[in-house]
Amino acid sequence: MDGKDLTRRQFIAAASAGSLAGVASRAIPAYGNITKKAGKLAILGGEPVRKNKSWPRWPYWDEKVVDSVVKTTKSRIWCRIQSKSGTVPTFEKQWASLAGAKFCVATGSGTQALHTSVEALGIGPGDEVITSPYTDPGTISSILTARALPVLADLDRESYQLDPDDVERRVTENTRAIMPVHMMGQPCDMGRIMEIAEKHNLKVIEDAAQAHFAEYKGKKLGTIGDLGCFSFQSSKTIACGEGGGIIGDDEELMDKCYTVHNHGTSRRGRTEVAGPKYRMNEFEAAVLLGQLSGARERFERRNENAARLTAGIKDLPGIRPQKLYEGTECGSFYIYAMTYRKEYFNDVDRSKFLKAMAAEGVSLSPYITQGLHREPWIEHILSRPVYKKMFSKKRLTKYRQESKCPNCDKVCQELAMIWASGPLLGTRQDMDDVVNALVKVYENRDKLSAV
Ligand SMILES: *Cc1c(COP(=O)(O)O)cnc(C)c1O
Repeated sequence: MDGKDLTRRQFIAAASAGSLAGVASRAIPAYGNITKKAGKLAILGGEPVRKNKSWPRWPYWDEKVVDSVVKTTKSRIWCRIQSKSGTVPTFEKQWASLAGAKFCVATGSGTQALHTSVEALGIGPGDEVITSPYTDPGTISSILTARALPVLADLDRESYQLDPDDVERRVTENTRAIMPVHMMGQPCDMGRIMEIAEKHNLKVIEDAAQAHFAEYKGKKLGTIGDLGCFSFQSSKTIACGEGGGIIGDDEELMDKCYTVHNHGTSRRGRTEVAGPKYRMNEFEAAVLLGQLSGARERFERRNENAARLTAGIKDLPGIRPQKLYEGTECGSFYIYAMTYRKEYFNDVDRSKFLKAMAAEGVSLSPYITQGLHREPWIEHILSRPVYKKMFSKKRLTKYRQESKCPNCDKVCQELAMIWASGPLLGTRQDMDDVVNALVKVYENRDKLSAV
């Protein structure tokens, strides 16, 4: 449904075909007085919708977090191997339980959690892992560090998630696993992805780095595939600076994760396999333990605020919230993402729309502006002898030819998002400010080309 010939009615009808129902006949919803008179755009000298107000800051801290770090300092237990009851083992037990799994191995980052998972599943040179081009570089780094080949499948343009049909098209005889990424903290189409994995006998490592507490069809994200990986990097909805964790129910496999992440040394004290040293340190776990008690409440608050935003914009032409798959019960809202369709804004480029929004006091970000299929690493690995030894010339030629992801390119051009970890903890008025600014800019769309 590309093009300028779409009527507003068709657009809304298409929107309502997704999971978020649109009502074609209803007028643009109003908060405050916006629909009566939108007023002059702030960027053209009018009054901004939002003035002298700040958003809740992130990362979050309170006295509990500080006390927890002080306690660890004074205990002199600064490394996990010093004690079985230190902060890291305690955090692992608590996170496993909160995330709905039997076991957790904490790591120094989400990237380390993913790489540990790849190694523990025995995936390495000559193997291929299918994942998304629209993600943090850590996702493919985990595959490349294992000297396997990341194969990037295209997206569903409206959910920004992996398109399962394209995933299946890219399965080869070398494929060993799928690494679905739950973008923005919302579930991928896991029903279809698990079906494909079963049919082709593939492992599934969920990149749930953005998806703490999110749920799909009665299961928490991270518990659907063989292993689930989280990030606790500063920007994430549960944060300790740098940190990560793997969850799973298979005791033997989780034991392997421990061994791999502990420079190949098992809990039995024998050095058994090749492995990096990726242990989380006790201070990182102290910061996490200090904030876990309020994490669920903050998650619920983000969900309530996101629902208010979505209700406010669902009938606004040209702005469309992220499509959610059937079976999505709640998302993590690390990011609140929308698609900006310029054909509804007098064909004005996203950059001008973003400028006008910022002037109204609501900063939206374009997020990832180039998919990973457009980054230089592809040529780098194709030129390396190690990849030429592992894969046939025919395979690598095909790999280069098939590295296009046109839907991902569109998403990179159309997305507008709010970094949600802090801002979505704001008040209802904060959310209404966002909606009011969007409505105001839409109402003034004929003046946008001048900004
Ligand atoms: C943050 C992130 C990662 C990497 O996690 P780090 O803790 O930064 O290493 C991987 N995948 C996704 C989707 C992420 O958002």
